[in-house]
Amino acid sequence: MKTEARTSSTMPVSGAILLISCYELGHRPAGLTRPLRALEAVGFAPDVIDIAIEPLDVEKVKRARFIGISVPMHTALRLGVHLVHRIRQINPDVPICMYGLYATLNADHLLSHGVDFCIANTASTELVELVTSVLKKERIKTYSDDVSVGKLPPLDVYAEFEDDGETRTVGYTETTHGCKHLCTHCPIPPVYNGKFFVVERDIVLAEIQEQVAEGATHITFGDPDFLNGPTHGLRILRAMHDAFPNLTFDFTTKIEHILKHRKHFREFAQLGCRFVISAVESLSETVLTILEKHHTRADVETAIDIVHGAGIALRPTWVPFTPWTTLEDFLEMLAFVETHRLVYHVDPVQYAVRLLIPPGSYLLNRPETKSLSLMLDETAFSYIWEHPDARMDELHKTVSALVENDARMGVDPLDTFYQIWELAADMHGSRHTPLYHSKAAHPHAPRITEAWFC
Ligand code: SF4
Repeated sequence: MKTEARTSSTMPVSGAILLISCYELGHRPAGLTRPLRALEAVGFAPDVIDIAIEPLDVEKVKRARFIGISVPMHTALRLGVHLVHRIRQINPDVPICMYGLYATLNADHLLSHGVDFCIANTASTELVELVTSVLKKERIKTYSDDVSVGKLPPLDVYAEFEDDGETRTVGYTETTHGCKHLCTHCPIPPVYNGKFFVVERDIVLAEIQEQVAEGATHITFGDPDFLNGPTHGLRILRAMHDAFPNLTFDFTTKIEHILKHRKHFREFAQLGCRFVISAVESLSETVLTILEKHHTRADVETAIDIVHGAGIALRPTWVPFTPWTTLEDFLEMLAFVETHRLVYHVDPVQYAVRLLIPPGSYLLNRPETKSLSLMLDETAFSYIWEHPDARMDELHKTVSALVENDARMGVDPLDTFYQIWELAADMHGSRHTPLYHSKAAHPHAPRITEAWFC
């Protein structure tokens, strides 16, 4: 953490604290709501901007005496770094704090490139203490004389829940921070080191209640893994269902937890669960071992049976491009998705995800990674790697371009899927043999209308 002497002022300032969110997967950002509430609770009146859905308000930047930028994921960090340059042009001396997972991972670089403070958690006392000390040092009082100060964007500007024509307004909350697992490719373990922390039940329920009052009819629980604390999660779900019986929800959990907590899935469905996201990542034993996922292909099949058997949709996520994933593995993933009739359960962008190795990643400790010649690209906030089979890097480029173009043109995900399969099979020199090449064979799955991507 870096501190600097600042000029002082005795004047009360409206909008002295400005919190900015860059991107949070299309939902209302917890990186705004939680620090906003924490700062309001101790008497501050922060202003907020979510640049994912609104332009940067230059006047707000000009009057700010402290700016916090939320960077919980890689995309947000890249946007946030551009934002720092813009802010410095508008308000050169304002103290800037980046907060969230990627602020901590990249603190060395950020602190030497225009950021004054980096802290990990969005709602921690750390942020409140930092704001208090910065404003106290500058002898600034903050108050709200402007109805727009602190006002969060309405929920209906964010992504919706959608299921075969049914749409719902989505609210967002988290019941825990961190994770007790240590998957090597995940950005959470280097920051949380295998620990997770529960958010008080009353806080979570108040956030849900507030968003229901604003029109939310579906809640996304964005915990890294909702079933790290299953008892805590279940208590919240039961209380939520008692208060709002028609509210539906989704959460994310690992395959291992679906198997371990299988007895709860029928109850999750009764409480309103519509889909569960699970990071399958790969079916290759080699890749799963390196990523330390602690599941197998057979476990994934069991998890699908458990979740679908309860009447909930499972939406698997993938990391199809790693230095250890072969072209045969890629084809196997596509065949698996088709055989299990999951084409509409997977956002096409998932087939273009390439392994990110950020600074501090646990993957750097794996012998398989040590044998790669990695170079840190500081401006991309990750290590650069090349696949030993050049066809995989080529395939990644082609699939990425196809997915992006198809998403822009509104192409049906089923058509994108079969085109990806054809491309990969051509590259492999084999014939792809679809079993269920028809829309009717692949049931629609509930989803949030913003493809998952970090
Ligand atoms: S991938 Fe999921 S289970 Fe693994 S460490 Fe990250 S959050 Fe935890």
